[in-house]
Amino acid sequence: MLNKRNFYINAKWVKPLKSNDFEVINPSNEEPFAVISLGSKEDTDLAVRAAKSAFIKWKETSKEERIVLLEKLLTIYKKRFNEMAEAISMEMGSPIDYSYSTHTTSGQSHLEDFIMRLKKFNFEKHFDSKSNNHISYEPIGVCGLITPWNWPINQIALKVVPALATGCTMILKPSEIAPISAMLFAEMIDEAGFSPGVFNLVNGDGAGVGTHISGHPDIDMISFTGSTRAGKLISKNAADTIKRVCLELGGKGGNIVFADSYPNAVRDGIRNVMSNSGQSCDAPTRMLVEKSIYKKAIEEATDEANKIKVDIASKKGDHIGPVVSKVQYDKIINLIKSGIDEGATLATGGYELPNNLNKGYFIKPTIFTNVTNNMDIAKKEIFGPVLSIIPFETEEEAIKITNDTEYGLGNYLQTEDKEKAKRVAKKLRSGIVYINGKGADSGTPFGGYRQSGNGREGGTWGLEEYLEVKTITGWK
Ligand code: NAD
Repeated sequence: MLNKRNFYINAKWVKPLKSNDFEVINPSNEEPFAVISLGSKEDTDLAVRAAKSAFIKWKETSKEERIVLLEKLLTIYKKRFNEMAEAISMEMGSPIDYSYSTHTTSGQSHLEDFIMRLKKFNFEKHFDSKSNNHISYEPIGVCGLITPWNWPINQIALKVVPALATGCTMILKPSEIAPISAMLFAEMIDEAGFSPGVFNLVNGDGAGVGTHISGHPDIDMISFTGSTRAGKLISKNAADTIKRVCLELGGKGGNIVFADSYPNAVRDGIRNVMSNSGQSCDAPTRMLVEKSIYKKAIEEATDEANKIKVDIASKKGDHIGPVVSKVQYDKIINLIKSGIDEGATLATGGYELPNNLNKGYFIKPTIFTNVTNNMDIAKKEIFGPVLSIIPFETEEEAIKITNDTEYGLGNYLQTEDKEKAKRVAKKLRSGIVYINGKGADSGTPFGGYRQSGNGREGGTWGLEEYLEVKTITGWK
């Protein structure tokens, strides 16, 4: 059992003030493999005090000084890449090859992209040539960063790196379900030599450390990624101190498959929704299929889902792993049951364990057909390998169904008609629209409309979230 009880505060690994052990479970075998501590208000206060005092000097550092440190961090990240991949696979059940190729790579590419954007970023700008006004971008202050378990290092890098880059100090509270990758990242920050107090990590749960962070009077900004449920609580708790609150929340993405889509569109949609065992906020979990190809699409979708293997995370090769926890497992199973009760057709999958496994939080790739958009399986974020297929007749109807959700994070559309693709993409109410399976480039903004959150992470937009903007008159 790994002993991970200490917190990283003021550049030291320190014991919690009161012990409060919490076991980290390997979802492939349901066995605990590490113990962390859940922090208290007093632990949170210590970390915030360290960050507040470090801000005085850190905010005065030059962009060049911060680039040197971030480049060191990148070198260390590459050196310890394997450890990171192993930690993520163990803590949240990502198959080891996927953990290397996708999870751990995402952390590296965010580091690389932010370093490049920082080099180009101009913190001092003249308003315009006729004006004597000057615009200054300044770090917002002490940041509270709260992250989820489903893309652990991706989310941590999207917050910690721009906060460091802009001259902010911070306290990170990673998900208590998957904290090991975050603690490894803290070790890397330590090795890179950032000044004491610039970065601090306190483990804890939402009701404890999460709530102390969101209400803390000395924290100037919260950046949160997680459920819409927690996002609402955080916003309310942060309101009294008027801190900036950036939220990256849930989603219920639509994937419109027109009759003129490219040949593999349905199969690619299945692979996409099932990857990471369906635990992605922008997963295309509602596939809308044009009526004329509906029957064929169901055959292809079912065939593709049945080809996807489910297995333990440590096994090499192309398969999906377990879902992260017993809580998530029970939630997903209940939603599968509700889909059956609501009258949707279970085309494949279901709530029984895959044949090859008798332990672990495993769920078979599951597809429902004949779904209507008012069913729970079409409305709620299931966060498991479960897809709902919904037929449509016209372009307008497809747009209406896709937008008929409280979320607005990622939507997808498939058609070979370029004009139609652009027309529909402009009408979809979401922070990102993926046309014909093309991925987003590094540094493009990521975030949601409506209850999928506010603010944008990544690239220059991600840097700006951590900055205040000051107008100074009489500059020349
Ligand atoms: P969660 O909301 O339960 O927990 C996320 C984090 O918030 C954890 O660190 C948790 O301890 C903390 N937390 C929980 N309640 C809190 C509270 N009241 N105050 C402060 N902190 C609190 O979510 P999860 O189950 O860890 O992650 C899955 C969710 O994250 C999904 O809804 C998914 O869509 C969302 N997500 C969104 C994005 C995005 O960029 N939009 C990316 C990844 C995940």
